[in-house]
Amino acid sequence: MVKRYRNCFVVALLAASFSLPGMADDSMGDSSNDVSPQPRTTVVMMGTGTPVLKHDRAGQAILIVVDKQMYLFDAGPGFVKGFDALSGKSFMPEDIYFSNDSVYGEMNKVFITHLDSDHVLGLPELMLRPWIMGRSEPLKMVGPRGLNEMASNIIEAYQSDIDHRLYGTQPANELGFTVDVTEISDNQVVHEDDKATVTAFRVPHGSWAEGMSFGYRVETPDKTVVISGDTRHDEALYEHFEGADILIHEVMSKAGVGQMAQDWQDYMYHAHTSTQQLADIGNKIAPELLVMTHPLLFGQTDEQLHDEMAGYYDGNFKLASDLDIYE
Ligand SMILES: [Zn+2]
Repeated sequence: MVKRYRNCFVVALLAASFSLPGMADDSMGDSSNDVSPQPRTTVVMMGTGTPVLKHDRAGQAILIVVDKQMYLFDAGPGFVKGFDALSGKSFMPEDIYFSNDSVYGEMNKVFITHLDSDHVLGLPELMLRPWIMGRSEPLKMVGPRGLNEMASNIIEAYQSDIDHRLYGTQPANELGFTVDVTEISDNQVVHEDDKATVTAFRVPHGSWAEGMSFGYRVETPDKTVVISGDTRHDEALYEHFEGADILIHEVMSKAGVGQMAQDWQDYMYHAHTSTQQLADIGNKIAPELLVMTHPLLFGQTDEQLHDEMAGYYDGNFKLASDLDIYE
């Protein structure tokens, strides 16, 4: 199947005397000349947003790339197009069309923290768009109970498109839109290969029942990256944060939340972590880099949030922007 698309691509290239956009440039991405890039692990903040509309923040999505193998965490709205900005980067898989051996084919596993829509609205796009462009294997999905039903419902919702591509004149493969879902409810290793071990751990997030909301710890040959997911502050989580080189944690402005009505403050502290609480975590865990994401500002600016954190924390930290890259 894959070979057939490659052949189609060659024919398309012969027919066209111009370079197609997104096609790998030999000078940038020739994997045949690859020397293993150092460092081996790269983190890209594909989406850093919250339910609040921000034109410069896509929905939650974090990409970890280890030796060109990709691991995605969450699939919030609108993050998939951000892969275009990574085209040609030395740590990325090849950006070619209609091949499973490409960035599209490597969009093949996603670990979902919880089912709030700001973390999963991008799932239909992640399921369907890479398939059209070359992924020919099922998308592996890990997440809490309900994820399987959600994925089935997405396939049902887009059945007309799927049928049109499968049974129309467009060359299409039969597996790339399908999913292989594993539902979890406990702390456990959820993925292991020669590049990364991914361990899920339960986090307390508002009124989600226990075992319905997760963080992930990712251990690679050269880094430990921990992703908090959405969570309130809880010292019981520190054992999962311990030893993180990069700790990516949600945050809310303490000053911002302090201006809300008491019932909203109670709700927010039951679900989320303030700058001051995150500074306590940073001081205890001492990661090389503490990344603040999913900023709940409540009227504050990014700069004010950054300054607020600097007032509580002396360690190395960043407020994430979309497409930030950490190595
Ligand atoms: Zn969220």
